[in-house]
Amino acid sequence: VVKGLDSEYMEHELEKMREERGVEFDNQLSAADMKKLVEKYKAIYRDKLGEDFPTDPMEQLWAGIDAVFLSWNVKRAVEYRRIHKLPDNMGTAVNVQTMVFGNMGEDCATGVAFTRDPANGEKRFFGEFLVNAQGEDVVAGIRTPQPVNKSSENELPSMEEIMPSIYKELEAIYLKLEDHYKEMQDIEFTIENNKLWMLQTRTGKRTGQAAVKIAVDMEKEGMIDRETAILRVEPEQLDQFLHPQVDPKAPKSKICSGLAASPGAACGKIVFTADEAEQAGASEKVILVRLETSPDDIHGMNVAQGILTARGGMTSHAAVVARGMGKCCVAGCSALKVDYENQQFSVGNQVFKKGEYITLNGTKGEVYKGQVPMIEVGFTDEYYEFMNWVDEYKRLKVRTNADTPKDSQVAREFGAQGIGLCRTEHMFFEKDRIAAVRKMILADDLESRRQALEILKPMQKNDFKGIFKAMDGFPVNIRLLDPPLHEFLPQTDDELRELASEMGVDFKTLQDKNDTLHEFNPMLGHRGCRLGVTYPEIYDMQAAAIMEALCEVQKEDNVKVVAEIMIPLVAVDKELSFLRKRVVDIAEQIKKDYGVDAEYCVGTMIELPRAALTADQIACHADFFSFGTNDLTQTAFGLSRDDAGRFLPEYVGKKVLPEDPFVSIDIDGVGQLMEIAVSKGRSVKSDLKVGICGEHGGEPISVKFCHRINLNYVSCSPYRVPIARLAAAHAVLEEKK
Ligand code: PEP
Ligand code: MG
Repeated sequence: VVKGLDSEYMEHELEKMREERGVEFDNQLSAADMKKLVEKYKAIYRDKLGEDFPTDPMEQLWAGIDAVFLSWNVKRAVEYRRIHKLPDNMGTAVNVQTMVFGNMGEDCATGVAFTRDPANGEKRFFGEFLVNAQGEDVVAGIRTPQPVNKSSENELPSMEEIMPSIYKELEAIYLKLEDHYKEMQDIEFTIENNKLWMLQTRTGKRTGQAAVKIAVDMEKEGMIDRETAILRVEPEQLDQFLHPQVDPKAPKSKICSGLAASPGAACGKIVFTADEAEQAGASEKVILVRLETSPDDIHGMNVAQGILTARGGMTSHAAVVARGMGKCCVAGCSALKVDYENQQFSVGNQVFKKGEYITLNGTKGEVYKGQVPMIEVGFTDEYYEFMNWVDEYKRLKVRTNADTPKDSQVAREFGAQGIGLCRTEHMFFEKDRIAAVRKMILADDLESRRQALEILKPMQKNDFKGIFKAMDGFPVNIRLLDPPLHEFLPQTDDELRELASEMGVDFKTLQDKNDTLHEFNPMLGHRGCRLGVTYPEIYDMQAAAIMEALCEVQKEDNVKVVAEIMIPLVAVDKELSFLRKRVVDIAEQIKKDYGVDAEYCVGTMIELPRAALTADQIACHADFFSFGTNDLTQTAFGLSRDDAGRFLPEYVGKKVLPEDPFVSIDIDGVGQLMEIAVSKGRSVKSDLKVGICGEHGGEPISVKFCHRINLNYVSCSPYRVPIARLAAAHAVLEEKK
């Protein structure tokens, strides 16, 4: 490690020696065998490095210290910091301490343990150890470790049985450590000639499910207070509750079993190296299959759907890292013969090649052939209890971005308090309507456009009714048509020809019309409220559909929602005042016609820098603001959101940007525009309701920023609602600190 020499050379000699002696494990070799090996190792060292192995202990120690410091910059450390968002300038330290030996005979051992179950959070002491071994042997997984206490998953004799008095001592120590740190501990110990030594204790990594259970249990045990419990769970960890599981009812063909190292399910194509996983993983789903993983595989583990190893226990590298990442992992499948050279693995006489699909069940520790269907996980009792606490603390409301009754329903189950963005154009894309939409766009005159809109109106109205019913009791924010019209047009000549015959016009005329709609920069072109200004009849139809739906559900089903009608891409206050007047006129007329006192308001998105800077003028005509931070980021940076993905990773890699600004709000720039808009807007209307509906609304750091600048709510996709709720509670607790 110190000299950067590939350990394979040494491993190879060791393996040869085991074969020659006819033994399976290193500790079955004699002292004389070891001496011989040392000679061989020294020869390899001399051969590869052109110098003798240093025998001066001080020289060895200093080289070791240097190596630890240098390891700060090795690929896997850099990758680890990137994944866990740790700063590169934090620095590291080296402890120099005397060690003990776990490999001096049968009265020696070494092991690792968790004070609670890191997979599901259950309150049970849990760990693994090996007799006559060093720590590396346990994590590397070459020998199958034995359990520390009698357990159902492992039949090997436990430490509790074979070293009962030391086990008792270990038990007392783990209880003391957990009580001292008030946190689940991951401990390492060595037994040297029947004496127990503690090597290390640290906060144990755990799955999301375990994090929630441990936090709730510890609060109930009186070990920590409620605020600490809430802060103990990282918002992103909740994502794991939403992870799929293998459908228990689906037919499956089991290849083999291993340890249920990290729960969930994963399906993908077999790859055998972390590099292959990294290459393929961007575009397709892969399962990383290894004899065992090492820290060098972290980049591949990060992109893989799941991890399968042939060796190693519940505390092996693969298991611990996968749990930390919330990724499905089946470890220690001893029946698996991995053949890296031929890019295949076998179980008995079945062979599986690179690129073939397999499915992992990390909850049960099973591996299946092909792609097995999955289902979503249910929430645990502790989850519900925990999220109730979260809601007591958070100030921000959390809404969802949803365009269908089904998504709205899902989001409500996840705790959404209304809809923050319903993108009406998504409804236009549906099969039965796209033809009418195209007719509307390609119409030559107002009359034919109106006719096409009349076909669309009842469909939109029905959609809105479904969404209102699903969101009874909450506000529903509906945005009027936003994207450039050409997005709806036929892409191929064949489609265009078909449409021409449907519309009863000739192909050439339609083609010409299609061409006139072409734009060089459609994202900055004829879209958003600009469509509303030039084709007011489109927004008129949508406003009417919303209001009729609202009155009807209120009248027929006693459904009470507040409809927030939102105008997109406003840059100038006059755009809003012009459109607002039309919407209000239509709304008031419909309320009168139905005789229903339906509640609605009209507001705008703030997604252009000019809108943010003139928010006081705009606020005069708006009942609410909603930040469209996708477009605001695009326009503040002058960076196309559709193309930036090609080079932004390099920007982040070279640290030109700390993070992709489309993922986490650029606080200095985009964030400043938001602050300006909030303050200018509320200078005119002190109670102006302000939210966010860009993708950032479900990203924890951005959510916390939204809390700090006093937004009323964040809105995100249904599956991020629980994450945003917890981030909003963390924002309050962190502020308090
Ligand atoms: C936005 O721009 O942030 C937004 C929510 O609108 P869209 O993503 O639909 O442009
Ligand atoms: Mg937008």
